[in-house]
Amino acid sequence: MGGHSPCASCKLLRRRCARDCIFAPYFPSEDPHKFAIVHKVFGASNISKMLQELPAHQRADAVSSLVYEASARVRDPVYGCVGAISYLQNQVSQLQMQLAVAQAEVLCIQMQQDSSAMQLPRMVDVPSDDDKPSSPPFLLPNNLAHFLNLSPAS
Ligand SMILES: [Zn+2]
Repeated sequence: MGGHSPCASCKLLRRRCARDCIFAPYFPSEDPHKFAIVHKVFGASNISKMLQELPAHQRADAVSSLVYEASARVRDPVYGCVGAISYLQNQVSQLQMQLAVAQAEVLCIQMQQDSSAMQLPRMVDVPSDDDKPSSPPFLLPNNLAHFLNLSPAS
């Protein structure tokens, strides 16, 4: 970099770009719009203060967040990025509701399948009807008919 070509911030603020300019790594001169928009919304001195308070490895993320928030504020002067956040939160809660409904449907289907799966082995393993313990074992043809009715479904 060097002090010869000023960064986008120093160019816009019409000042000399120092060798340790805090803006230079994040606002290159070939992208003047990026600094212009954050300067318009937050102000250069606030951005400088925010960057100085952060460790160097977090500054790039902070700058991209500031650029995002500033663009959202320009697009939507009333709500800014809060508009996008609440829109997305709405979408999340709608999708969570849909997911809960779908999970309840899956549970219903599983319970139906479980109950039919539990009936079938009972028919096969125990020919006598469990619901009527008093039924004498010689009613086998009746149970057999049940079994034959159910067997195509298995
Ligand atoms: Zn600079």
